[in-house]
Amino acid sequence: MPEEVDLFVIGAGSGGVRAARISSGYGARVMIAEEYRVGGTCVIRGCVPKKLLVYASRFAEEFEDAAGYGWTVPKPKFDWPTLIANKDREIDRLEAAYTSNLERSKVSIVKSRAVLVDQHTVRLTATGQTVRAKHILIATGGSPSLGKDIEGHDHVISSNESFHLKELPKRIVIQGGGYIAVEFAGIFNGLGSEVTLVYRGDNILRGFDEDVRNHLRAEMEKRGIKIITKRIVEGIEKVDHGLCVELSDHENIVADKVMFATGRRPNVKGLGIEAAGVKLDEKGAIAVNEFSQTNVPHIYAVGDVTDRVALTPVAIREGHAFADSVFGGKPTPVDHANVPTAVFSEPECGVIGLTEAQACEKLAKVDIYKTTFRPMKATLSGRDTRTFMKLVIDGLTDRVVGAHIVGPDAGEMIQLIGIAVRVRATKADFDATMAVHPTAAEELVTMRTKTITHVRQAAE
Ligand SMILES: Cc1cc2nc3c(=O)[nH]c(=O)nc-3n(C[C@H](O)[C@H](O)[C@H](O)COP(=O)(O)OP(=O)(O)OC[C@H]3O[C@@H](n4cnc5c(N)ncnc54)[C@H](O)[C@@H]3O)c2cc1C
Repeated sequence: MPEEVDLFVIGAGSGGVRAARISSGYGARVMIAEEYRVGGTCVIRGCVPKKLLVYASRFAEEFEDAAGYGWTVPKPKFDWPTLIANKDREIDRLEAAYTSNLERSKVSIVKSRAVLVDQHTVRLTATGQTVRAKHILIATGGSPSLGKDIEGHDHVISSNESFHLKELPKRIVIQGGGYIAVEFAGIFNGLGSEVTLVYRGDNILRGFDEDVRNHLRAEMEKRGIKIITKRIVEGIEKVDHGLCVELSDHENIVADKVMFATGRRPNVKGLGIEAAGVKLDEKGAIAVNEFSQTNVPHIYAVGDVTDRVALTPVAIREGHAFADSVFGGKPTPVDHANVPTAVFSEPECGVIGLTEAQACEKLAKVDIYKTTFRPMKATLSGRDTRTFMKLVIDGLTDRVVGAHIVGPDAGEMIQLIGIAVRVRATKADFDATMAVHPTAAEELVTMRTKTITHVRQAAE
């Protein structure tokens, strides 16, 4: 007889772990399967190790900037193997913490790949065992997509391998223009690699506000990152002194590593979704409604495998809402509007809500306030860098509908602006808020002069 559970969760990442723990707390018998490591992408090879590498990379500027403040710092030396070993220790600690949290919540963990056999049955490939489940939650996340099979494709690494390189590459080519590409460009640049970013579009960070894209690009270039746009990597050849990367305009770049950060695809391959009759959307993600329910009523999916907003806090929220809805008797849809987000580039970006262009499409009248200024710390250090801030206001209601920041601590600032945007704060509320001086964030409540007003012409 197969084992029976109330909930079988496939994938112990951000969404799956939260859903499993909360469902178990409501009294459900829960089993969770993980084929790699408990914690999933965010903890093992995403947000957390990435941010640790970002911290490491930022010391380079700190050492340089110290001189203007009177410090004499001997020529700093960086050791990549030490950083990676320390990072790995921290990830091991977190994995153990996630595992014991699940165990404490009485969730049964199986270290195996799980595949759907039919609408109520899951097979564990490690043992061949089958489990019957009243409800199934697919929380399998996503994986790097390295694009078409170009010559020399075997030499390409993704973010997964970047966390485990034996040595710091002296020269690296990163293909991609999304947040993972720009973050890794900043990491390797800060640690001392020569970085070339190659992107097929006309500017980095597609989908972000145009001013953010331009400002960040200029700041990255100031730091010595070479950004090549409107071109792609066509082939890679191993040569004596490294890897020769051929671009679509036939320019060649020699590097020690080539990393592609060209998007991620939902993990649905070989999962048995056809056997269970679960439908995908047109992008190949699992199609769900606002309760994360698939077309099969007792099968749900959360997180990156649904490709709604591929961020950890969103996967966690979807997992929690699933548990509340299915086992807690509180039907909870997830609101995907106004998700604040950060890009841990150098400098950082923090954004929420509508870009200027999106606001102009949606709203009849849009007021824009923006400013660029030299961060105070850069005065004595003499660093050539500027911070950028923009507020997008609905000109008819005075509501703040978008905020965009590029500069130190932008991620920290946008978390709090997120609350203001969520409670529908107006520009007048921002203005009435006392500034905290001297900070960069005070600019957000002291921008008095409108940069521009866009008024939509009435349809003829
Ligand atoms: C380099 C990088 C940096 C990132 N930085 C950030 C950031 O700064 N902030 C942020 O919010 N988000 C960030 N993300 C995104 C974030 O990691 C994901 O949005 C989040 O992890 C999604 O959670 P999830 O539960 O959907 O899937 P995941 O966390 O990916 O978990 C899915 C789990 O399922 C397992 N699995 C897959 N198939 C099976 C199967 N058949 N059987 C058993 N187990 C299976 C996988 O091994 C994995 O552990 C980053 C991602 C990457 C790659």
